[in-house]
Amino acid sequence: MNYTTKQRDAVEQVLASSARPLTAQEIWELARKKKSGLGIATVYRALKTLTKGSKAVLVEIPGSAPHYEWQRGRHHHHFLCESCQRVFELEGCVHQVVDLAPKKFKVKRHEIILYGSCEGCAQK
Ligand SMILES: [Zn+2]
Ligand SMILES: [Zn+2]
Repeated sequence: MNYTTKQRDAVEQVLASSARPLTAQEIWELARKKKSGLGIATVYRALKTLTKGSKAVLVEIPGSAPHYEWQRGRHHHHFLCESCQRVFELEGCVHQVVDLAPKKFKVKRHEIILYGSCEGCAQK
């Protein structure tokens, strides 16, 4: 394995083992512990490659920094904690959500984002 591959591997490992989406900054902080000397530019390059190859997904949430998550291939939504700015994955979906559209409209996709406080922040 060459140097670049090892660095990309560290990024991949961090993302694949995370239960929630992470920002490039968070990924960098975690990956640095596995691979010392890892630069943030390398993290961005690795993320670009991973999203291009559909191994990772860019999660864009209004009012939040871009997050990345491992592609697990199941439909889900997100929760943004407005106190700590962390993003969480939510299980499942609301089934009648497409019924919101008028009868003859064709819904192709949807996004649902919940905003509030996570468990840790809600207890403060
Ligand atoms: Zn929080
Ligand atoms: Zn849904």
